[in-house]
Amino acid sequence: MVEFDYIVIGGGSGGISSANRAAEHGAKVAVIEAVDLGGTCINRGCVPKKVSWYASRVSDSIHKYGPGYGFHAEYTSFNFDEFLEARDGYVSRSRSGYENNIEKNGITLYRGHASFVDGHTVEVNGETLTAKNILIATGGRPSKVEVPGGELVDNSDDFFNWTTLPEKVAVVGAGYIAVELSQVMSNLGVDTTLVTRYEKPLRSFDDMLSDLLLGAINEDGPTHMPNTTFTEYRKNGDKIECLVDGEVKLVVDRVVAAVGRVANTENLGLENTAITVDEKGQINVNDGHETEEAGVYAIGDVIDRVDLTPVAIRAGRTLSEYLFNNGATSAIDYTNIPTVIFSHPAIGTIGYSERDAIKEFGAENIKVYTNTFYSMYASAAWRREQNKFKLVCYGPEEVVIGLHGIGEGVDEMIQGFGVAMKMKATKAQFDSIIAIHPTGAEEFVTMR
Ligand code: FAD
Ligand code: NDP
Repeated sequence: MVEFDYIVIGGGSGGISSANRAAEHGAKVAVIEAVDLGGTCINRGCVPKKVSWYASRVSDSIHKYGPGYGFHAEYTSFNFDEFLEARDGYVSRSRSGYENNIEKNGITLYRGHASFVDGHTVEVNGETLTAKNILIATGGRPSKVEVPGGELVDNSDDFFNWTTLPEKVAVVGAGYIAVELSQVMSNLGVDTTLVTRYEKPLRSFDDMLSDLLLGAINEDGPTHMPNTTFTEYRKNGDKIECLVDGEVKLVVDRVVAAVGRVANTENLGLENTAITVDEKGQINVNDGHETEEAGVYAIGDVIDRVDLTPVAIRAGRTLSEYLFNNGATSAIDYTNIPTVIFSHPAIGTIGYSERDAIKEFGAENIKVYTNTFYSMYASAAWRREQNKFKLVCYGPEEVVIGLHGIGEGVDEMIQGFGVAMKMKATKAQFDSIIAIHPTGAEEFVTMR
């Protein structure tokens, strides 16, 4: 039995950050990783996705905007192999960075699947490790499609393993991943259909965002098939038929489903501990991320909070500050988290949607400001593309509790506004800032 101060199960965004911070404070740390260091974000999430988004932006520049600015590139094909080399090369360099940091911090890395023997003992590859404090940061994986022929359907992990680009693809789902991947594929020249079970994607976001995005999708692709739930998938030669109640609705080369994710809590030996999971299989924790087993914590996608890399990182580091550097708390603030959907155009959002704010505080306490303008980048190239911005304000002081934007550059625009919102900035304080011109960001400080 090897004894550590801290055992971290899962070497993804949350686990690695927590392990490194604990080791920096002198703790003797073990990290156990079953697949690849870096977890979802580095290997099959944020990073390869963002590189793909950049590639699809290059395609936009060539096709959509270039000609208007006088660039007529002799563009005949997109070399997927060269793109994969660039994308996977970047991913692999990022992963090496993680490996180097772990080594530099003197952390013991175990490669294998961890499971609990009891509340404070973990087994990996036949070895047993023990520690007073243990972190579960095992993340999640794509949900399966539970209909006949569901095994024919790929998920986002599969997408990042494709070695060729199919000609025709259906993307099923309506969240971040379905939007991002369907637009990437469409922009890279794949005949793509985004299939949503209701009328539009991103229904849970502010309506201004989802409505404008739907317009952009209808204009530039992918094809949108709304109000459709496939009840069966069938192989027909090299093709996949997508059916609703026995009727073929779409025939494609590949289907990718992005219909949510499930927590990795199976085969963890939780039954040997006091730890419990909720009805979705996510680990139950208190505000300080402690499970029902004292000294065992869980963070990131394996708990029911917010599934974003910086959230897992913040929770992981805060926990290590608490455990190994007399930090005041292991809780983090889950409000006003800025988030970006890497769509075309990009979406940035913080805090309450107009709909949720009215529901929570009453319409009489909410004032909404919006600005719409035509993107200068597009307009100069003879394209009419709307960008929209919204502030949701609360009470007589008009504290900004929701900020939403969709348009050119929004992805890089909203981080700083998050600081203002954390400081409870009011609409008047937003207005007191002199705008930067000509930008899209100035719309947020010039609303009337
Ligand atoms: P993970 O990063 O999933 O790490 C968990 C690790 O635990 C994995 O490496 C796994 O192999 C390991 N593991 C599991 N079980 C065991 C076990 N029993 N023993 C040992 N190891 C185990 N977030 C953003 O903020 N921005 C984005 O742009 C973004 N894009 C995304 C795109 C996609 C396609 C996906 C799928 C996700 C994206 N996310 C994005 C979400 C982000 O990737 C996750 O929120 C984040 O990775 C969660 O970190 P984590 O540490 O909780 O889990
Ligand atoms: P999401 O939970 O964001 O979206 C899944 C959506 O799919 C649901 O909202 C639902 O929308 C739809 N859906 C659910 N079940 C079905 C079904 N059976 N058939 C058809 N559609 C269905 O999950 P994702 O998988 O897209 O992403 C997981 C999480 O990862 C995100 O929530 C986010 O936290 C993170 N992420 C972050 C990114 C970023 O920061 N840019 C990028 C990618 C992921 P509806 O009810 O409208 O049908």
